[in-house]
Amino acid sequence: MYMDRTIKLKLEMPDEGKENLRQTVVLFNQVFNEVAKYGFENHTYSKVSIHHATYYDIRERHPELNSSHVQGARDVACEALKGVKLKRLPQSIPFSAIRYNKNTIRIVFEHGYASVSSVNGRVKVCFTIPKYYEQYLGWEVRSSTLNYDSRNDLFYLHVTLRTESPKPSGNTVLGIDRGIVNVAVCSNNVFFNDSKVKNARAKYAYLRKELQSKGTKSAKRLLKKMSRKERRFVTDVNHCIAKDIVNMPFDVIALEDLTSIRVQKRKGKNFNRKLNNWSFYQLEQFIRYKAEALGKQVVSVDPRFSSQKCSKCGHTYKGNRDGSSYRCRSCGFQIHADLNAARNIAQAGISCLSRLSVNQPNVGMSAVQDTVQ
Ligand SMILES: [Zn+2]
Repeated sequence: MYMDRTIKLKLEMPDEGKENLRQTVVLFNQVFNEVAKYGFENHTYSKVSIHHATYYDIRERHPELNSSHVQGARDVACEALKGVKLKRLPQSIPFSAIRYNKNTIRIVFEHGYASVSSVNGRVKVCFTIPKYYEQYLGWEVRSSTLNYDSRNDLFYLHVTLRTESPKPSGNTVLGIDRGIVNVAVCSNNVFFNDSKVKNARAKYAYLRKELQSKGTKSAKRLLKKMSRKERRFVTDVNHCIAKDIVNMPFDVIALEDLTSIRVQKRKGKNFNRKLNNWSFYQLEQFIRYKAEALGKQVVSVDPRFSSQKCSKCGHTYKGNRDGSSYRCRSCGFQIHADLNAARNIAQAGISCLSRLSVNQPNVGMSAVQDTVQ
């Protein structure tokens, strides 16, 4: 198991270096567009066939672009084509961020510099490592992207670093169900249905409606300000909830994997609502960060049936759930529907752990107690 962190470094360099990097960014994006166009027109995102068709021509026309950059642009283009399933032509603007790999960049964190390949040889850039980032010294550099902020003429490097996750000390699993009504429900019977959030959301929804109906310029400005405020509020609440969750006496935290698109179709409207809610992602990110810092593991589990399955006997039936209450037609078990889901998630987390064979999971499951709410 690994954990990845992305850090952002502000780069310093002489004007000449900036010019070289600007040209590199523009050319990289031009190549990206050329390659994407080829793939789109020939209906392929295969790296191999696109490579054979475009590489030598591009190298010939742009010998100044490092061959690794040509390959990098091709890879990114193929991924973009695949991402849109060839349904439309992905295009990048001249100053889109570009990808670097170990052939095109060498980063020396300890000395705060990097040598970055450009259309005109290597550019040496400097950066200061903020104190907070010092914890990442010694992590393995996975990938980096060069971002150009053309408005302020500044370059940034986003570097993704990886290290091995600390091994969980034990194997007790806490399952978390994230929801609309309850922000989070834990398999140990703890509910986070912070009425503060609900009240705030209701208040903001009401104000938003009022302001929208006005439609004036100042109303629009207020709306913007308000949505920032609401976001900050939810962020604060998410921080608190994540902190409480990771401090519970469990070694492993299991969450629904909301990113597996495969599942998206099967789960219907409710699930999609979860998927589109940035607050769910944020809570997950906070939990991951804080858990990892404590040496706790976070596992993502398949969310299928977590709300339909009986956490006691395993009977899976849609009709078992009715709003917030769950009653198993097979064994008669009654429980709050979100808590039932949280326990299923915990159980899925336990089987996930045994597949990963991290220790021998504790099948006694202190995470899953059979107490009825
Ligand atoms: Zn049952």
